[in-house]
Amino acid sequence: MQEPSYPIPIVLVIGGHDPSGGAGIQADIEAVAANGAHAVSVITTLTVQDSCDVQALHPVPAETIAAQANALFADSPIAAIKIGLLGSPEAAKTVVDLLATHRNIPVVLDPVLAAGGGSRLAGDRILALLREMLPMCDLITPNTHEAHRLCDSDDSDAMEACAKQLQALGAQSVLITGTHERVEDPQITHRLFLSEGSVSSSQCQRLPGEYHGSGCTLASAIAARLAHGEPVQKAVANGLDYSWQSLSHGFRTGRCQSLPDRLYSLQRRDSDEDE
Ligand code: PLP
Repeated sequence: MQEPSYPIPIVLVIGGHDPSGGAGIQADIEAVAANGAHAVSVITTLTVQDSCDVQALHPVPAETIAAQANALFADSPIAAIKIGLLGSPEAAKTVVDLLATHRNIPVVLDPVLAAGGGSRLAGDRILALLREMLPMCDLITPNTHEAHRLCDSDDSDAMEACAKQLQALGAQSVLITGTHERVEDPQITHRLFLSEGSVSSSQCQRLPGEYHGSGCTLASAIAARLAHGEPVQKAVANGLDYSWQSLSHGFRTGRCQSLPDRLYSLQRRDSDEDE
């Protein structure tokens, strides 16, 4: 057998497949690659969806998910793990067990609870298993809706209390993205609650339109940066910047939401000056 060489860190992305290419595993692989790492992937669920919404989930059997992940863990030095759509309580339980077996690897959890088009993607059983996963996560990246559901609170002014509650449940750092709150505000505020207790916020300009896959893009970019050894605060700042750039270069492939251009740095299209 050949002696392995690892020129770039390897990130394990665990999530659903979105055939439209906007979210899910395809988003993860692109974002990880664009941030200088190599993605290996385990698909938890196949989805039927287009750029408008998700129509159906077809979960992959739990044994297949475990077998795929175990084959990867046995073969490669995984430098970070990113978790997205789980799709079934069985998949969620399998991922809880995998994380419990493979400790000491940075874990970023994007708690996917609904599609951009509005369809609910996780019920109460998955929610309970996501809470069980929190003690094994270095960073979780809920938007405000997801944070509310994880905390079981309707109070939109209680984000700080909610982040503290998620940390009390075991999550180390919590990044609550602000895209879904105060949608009339031209600025978006993201809040980062670090494990040692500090809180910081960052702002970015709100982009027009609706995007599909922004959460996956962000969490995967951060995971790739953690795999490179960046501390959480720096990885989050770089991940947010990269995601905003991807969205600002976004394009439409279908009738509804735009997709981020996660490979914008390849300059695949003519620049504005050449048009
Ligand atoms: N993963 C999959 C497979 C999805 O279908 C979706 C949403 O439809 C998501 C993740 C979450 O997407 P977003 O990054 O827009 O939150």
